[in-house]
Amino acid sequence: MSKKVLVLGANFGGMTAALKVKHELGDDVDVTVVSESDRFLFTPSLIWLPFGKRTACDITFDVAPTLEHHGIDFVHAAATGIDPVARTVSTNDGRVRAYDYLVVATGYRNNDDVVPGFREHARTITTLSRAQETGVAWQAFLQRPGDVVIAATQAAGCFGAAYEFLFNTAYQLKRAGLRKEVRLTYVTAEPFLGHFGIGGLPHGEQLLGMFLNRQGIESRVSVGIDHVAEDALVLADGEELPFAFGMVVPPFLGQEFLTHTVGLTDDKGFVPVRPTYQSEKLDDVYAVGVAAAVTVPWTTPVPVGIPKTGFPTEAQAATAAANIAAQVRGEPPVHEKPFGSIPAVCVMDAGNNGVVILADKMLPPRKHGVLIPGPQSHAMKLAFERYFLWKMRNGYVQLP
Ligand SMILES: Cc1cc2nc3c(=O)[nH]c(=O)nc-3n(C[C@H](O)[C@H](O)[C@H](O)COP(=O)(O)OP(=O)(O)OC[C@H]3O[C@@H](n4cnc5c(N)ncnc54)[C@H](O)[C@@H]3O)c2cc1C
Repeated sequence: MSKKVLVLGANFGGMTAALKVKHELGDDVDVTVVSESDRFLFTPSLIWLPFGKRTACDITFDVAPTLEHHGIDFVHAAATGIDPVARTVSTNDGRVRAYDYLVVATGYRNNDDVVPGFREHARTITTLSRAQETGVAWQAFLQRPGDVVIAATQAAGCFGAAYEFLFNTAYQLKRAGLRKEVRLTYVTAEPFLGHFGIGGLPHGEQLLGMFLNRQGIESRVSVGIDHVAEDALVLADGEELPFAFGMVVPPFLGQEFLTHTVGLTDDKGFVPVRPTYQSEKLDDVYAVGVAAAVTVPWTTPVPVGIPKTGFPTEAQAATAAANIAAQVRGEPPVHEKPFGSIPAVCVMDAGNNGVVILADKMLPPRKHGVLIPGPQSHAMKLAFERYFLWKMRNGYVQLP
């Protein structure tokens, strides 16, 4: 009988893992993807959605046709529990599904309780629905402009998105003829500008400082947030920053159902993994992408998280798939790619400009790291969006 591989989640990690396993093993394996969302979402483009530069349709596609074309079953349901002894996953459609190998690629949810008032008053762009709400708030702001605050809270990790949204906001304010009359402030837990949650890169602090200066953006660095009021961000040091429009990036948590399986997750709901992406506790359970735990290797005056971006997610999913294929063949799972040693490859958009971020490793010590600013970065981001959606929609996960 074919081995059963069950993949939870159908975005960067889940799609890559499912397609890679199927491509490698063909008829020797039954692959099923179970996902709460039946659409792939290209999250990097959420930075543009509130400004009306993208719609949900532009940056999503139906995963079922792609998966079925490659011989993979798709189930549109949310996992509600994993029983590692019976090797089953229960879902919110009342079914229980068996697995021989399980891949957890269920990503993140916002920590809405990070500070009082975040849930009620803060706008964010980290999910499609919240980005759409932020778009409504932006339209209202254009009718009644005032101060703007863009922030990343203590323990946040997705600093790249905060910077991108900051610079895109500055660009959109300029286009609306509002840049001079609006006070724009960036608030961050990072110990210095350009830390990005990855310890910074050579000349990054100067470059980001120059970007902010040139655009007249104020900053509050290495500061936590006390609470979000209806129309102001109140910082841990007591400063109050009023806003007519704001966007706050929170820290992420793993999906709640994972925490019901004793010993599977850490206190944030992420799955501690070995360099093979097997769970630390279970040989037949893998976790990739945001769902996999990464230990923050430094302490900072205000805590910062690690950005778990798309490139490492794909690399982790490919590693997990190679190991599952080995296990199915009766071989040991020897493929290893620790998160810290995966290259950092990212393009940070700034509206009509941007920065390419390249480093030999996600985490220090590094041999090389470079930031390349310029308008070509914006063009690259646009081209990459088209390319990546085309690649995923067709299931061409063998391409870079
Ligand atoms: C605003 C923003 C901008 C970003 N920009 C960039 C960028 O420019 N470059 C970059 O490399 N990275 C960027 N990232 C990071 C990137 O989005 C993540 O690396 C990527 O989403 C991780 O993919 P994933 O598959 O691990 O998780 P996710 O993308 O979170 O996918 C999780 C999947 O699991 C499903 N799911 C959730 N719960 C369940 C459940 N209970 N049962 C079954 N399925 C479930 C979801 O429906 C989804 O399909 C950005 C992130 C954000 C928020």
